[in-house]
Amino acid sequence: MSSTPVRSEAMPSGRPLGARLERVYETLLRRNPGEEEFLRAVREVLEVVEPVVERRPEYVEAGLLERICEPERQIIFRVPWSDDRGEVHVNRGYRVEFSSALGPYKGGLRFDASVNASIVKFLAFEQVFKNALTGMPIGGGKGGSDFDPKGRSDAEVMRFCQSFMTELHRHIGDRTDVPAGDIGVGQRELGYLFGQYKRLTNRYESGVLTGKGISWGGAQVRREATGYGCAYFVEEMLRTRGTSLAGREVVVSGSGNVAIYAVEKVAQLGGKVVACSDSEGVVHDPAGIDVELLKQVKEVERARLTAYAERRGPTATHRPGGDIWAIPCTVALPCATQNELDGKDAAKLVRSGVVAVAEGANMPCTAAAVQTFQEADVAFAPGKAANAGGVATSALEMQQNASRDSWTFEYTEERLVEIMREIHAACHDTAAAYGAPGNYVLGANIAGLTRVADAMLALGLV
Ligand code: GLU
Repeated sequence: MSSTPVRSEAMPSGRPLGARLERVYETLLRRNPGEEEFLRAVREVLEVVEPVVERRPEYVEAGLLERICEPERQIIFRVPWSDDRGEVHVNRGYRVEFSSALGPYKGGLRFDASVNASIVKFLAFEQVFKNALTGMPIGGGKGGSDFDPKGRSDAEVMRFCQSFMTELHRHIGDRTDVPAGDIGVGQRELGYLFGQYKRLTNRYESGVLTGKGISWGGAQVRREATGYGCAYFVEEMLRTRGTSLAGREVVVSGSGNVAIYAVEKVAQLGGKVVACSDSEGVVHDPAGIDVELLKQVKEVERARLTAYAERRGPTATHRPGGDIWAIPCTVALPCATQNELDGKDAAKLVRSGVVAVAEGANMPCTAAAVQTFQEADVAFAPGKAANAGGVATSALEMQQNASRDSWTFEYTEERLVEIMREIHAACHDTAAAYGAPGNYVLGANIAGLTRVADAMLALGLV
C-alpha cells in the first residue's frame, strides 16, 4: 500500500494527563516538534499510565517514563543509487533503535515515499510494547527509507537495497539489531539486503534478518503470520463475547502481505471477506474475495486490484477512490497503513453494526476513531496486540536460526495460535485488573509497558 495523507485528526486525543506525565509530554513536544505520529503514539501510552505509576512509584523514581520515551539510538543516513538509465537518486535511510531492555532491537524496515523521522520513530515506539506483549526476548526498533519500490525494476530495487545495507550492516547483528520487512519490504527486498550483508561481513549470519525465504534460512508461517495472527486475535475477542467469525461479513482494508493473509484466515475460520483495497480504490466482492486470485495478482504479478476485478468476473466491482468503510460488515480489519480510518469512518462502521475491529496495520485508526469504537462498545484491538503475530513469528525464526533447525508449518502455526491467545489473555486480564474490562487499548499498553519497565528497573540506569 502506498501512503495515506496524515489527517489532522491523527494528532493526540488530548485527554488530560497528571502533572508529572504532562511534564514528560511537554519535553517530548519540545524535542520532537511536528512529529504527529510519534507524539500520538506516546500520548496513547501516557494516557493509560497514571494508575500504573500510582501502583508502582519506583517507576517514577527511576525516571522510567522519561527513558522509555527516548530512543536509545537513532541512525539517519544517505542512500545514493542509480536507476536503469544511469540517473542518480539520493534517498534517506533510517534505523531507530528504541529499546533493548528485553532483547536485541527488533522490527521491520519500511520502504515507502511517506517514510520520515516521525513515522519511523512512532513505529519503533509501538514495536517496543508490541514485542514485549509477545513474551519473546526481543527489544524494539524500526527502520526504512523514503524510497518507493513500486514501479521500479528488480535491478533498481537490488541496487537500492545494496546501497541501503552498505550503511546499515555496521549497526545490525543477530544479537544487536534484527530487521525484517514492513510496507514495501518483502522477500525480494530482504533477499537483496541479506545478500549484501553476507558479502560485506563474510558471514552467513541467518539470524540478522527475519522474513527470509524458506530456502535461505526463513521460517514457515512468517509470511502468513501477521494476517493470520490478526484473524486469530479477533476470533478470541469474539469468543470472549460469546460469538465467533463464522458466518460474518468482514471488510479488510489493504491488499498487501497483512491483508492477504488476514483474508485467507478469516475465510478458514468461517467468515466471508467482502472487500479489500489499494491506494487506487476498493474491490467489493459480495461472493467473498478469492484469495488465490488475490495472491496471484498482488504477490506474483505485483499488479493493482483493478486486475483482480477484471479477472474475477461479475461478482466483483472495482470502485476507483471508493470508501471501503462504507461497505456494511460486522467485523473490520484495517490492514493498510496509519491513519486510514478516522472518526467519521468509525461512525459509519458503528451504524452498519460492526461488533469487532482489529488493527492489522500499525495505528490505522485515528484517536477519534478509537474513541468512537470504545464508546459504542465495539471490541477494539490496537495494532500492538492484534498484529503482533508477525514479529512473534520472527522471534520463532530467530530461534530456529540460532539452533540451525527448521520447524514444520503445522507446528509453527500452533505456536502462533498459542502466542496470540496469550497476548489476548494478557490484554484482557490486565484491562480487568485495572478496572477497565474490555478495554484492549489500556490492557495492551499497560501489559507491554510493565514488562519493559520491570526489565529496565533490573538493568539499572543505562
Ligand atoms: N513490520 C512488522 C511489524 O510491524 C514485523 C516486524 C518483525 O518481524 O520484526 O511488527
